[in-house]
Amino acid sequence: MNKNSVVLTRRFYFCAAHYYRVEEWSDEKNREVFGIHSNPTGHGHNFVLDVSVKGEIDPVTGMIINLTDLKRIVTPIVERFDHTFLNKDLPYFQSMQPTVENLSKLFWELIEDKLPDGVFLHRIRLKATEKVFAEYYGDGIGVFCKKYRFSAGHRLFSEKLSEEENKKVYGKCNNFYGHGHNYYLKVCYFSEIDEKTGMTIPLSELDRRVKGFLKTLSGKRLDKDIEFFKDKPATSENLLIFVKQGLSKLLGENVKKLEISETRNNFFEYLEDKDG
Ligand SMILES: [Zn+2]
Ligand SMILES: [Zn+2]
Repeated sequence: MNKNSVVLTRRFYFCAAHYYRVEEWSDEKNREVFGIHSNPTGHGHNFVLDVSVKGEIDPVTGMIINLTDLKRIVTPIVERFDHTFLNKDLPYFQSMQPTVENLSKLFWELIEDKLPDGVFLHRIRLKATEKVFAEYYGDGIGVFCKKYRFSAGHRLFSEKLSEEENKKVYGKCNNFYGHGHNYYLKVCYFSEIDEKTGMTIPLSELDRRVKGFLKTLSGKRLDKDIEFFKDKPATSENLLIFVKQGLSKLLGENVKKLEISETRNNFFEYLEDKDG
C-alpha cells in the first residue's frame, strides 16, 4: 500500500453567528454581493467540520492516529468558535470575512501544527448548511461547494444494443415510456480566496449561473429533449460530462469537482486535480 493512501475523518460541530460586510462599500453593494449574509445583526448556522488526516499506518496500533488523540487536539480549537458571533468574538475576523472558505483555511492553519509527527492534514470540509460548504487542501486555493436540485425524466437505452440487450443491461430503467428523478447536483468551484469578500465566487453569481444552466435540464426528458443525448445514453455518467461542459462555458475551468445523485442510493462524481 502506498504511503498516504488512507484518509480518516473525524467530525466536529459548533454553532455560531456571522455576517459579511466590506466597510467601504454602500449598504446596497453589500446586499448585492452578500445577499442575506449582509444583515448587520447577523444570522447563524450549526456548522459541521470534517477534519481529514492521512499518514502511515502504525504497524503496532493499526492506526494513522488514535481518534481520541485527534479529538483531544481539535476540540479545544473548535470550542473557541462554539456559540460565538464570529465577527465580534474572534480576533481573526477583524480583518477577514467569516466565510466558509476563510474558516476552512483558518481551521487548517490552527490544526496543522498541532498534529503529531507523521500525521498530515488531507482536507478540511466545513458545512454551513446541508447545501453549502467549503473545502481546503492546504494549497492556498479555496473550494466552495453548493448543492442544487432539479427534476428530469429519461429512458436508459443504447442504440448500439439490441432490444433484448437493452432490457438486460438497463432493466427497469429501460422502460419504454421513461421515468424520472429528483436529481441533486453538487458544484465545487476552485479559486484563490478573494481578500475583500472572503469568497472564491460570490454565492449570488454562482447561483445565477448554475440555476441558469439547470434550466436546460429541469423539467426535461433528457434523452429526447437534449441534443447531447441523441447519440449516447442519458446515464448519470454522461450527464456529468454534459454538466461539466456546460458549466465550463459559464464558469471557466474553476469547476473541478461535480457530483450528481440520481436517487438516494447512488451518487456520481466528476473529479479533476483533487481527489477529495
Ligand atoms: Zn451564513
Ligand atoms: Zn433513471
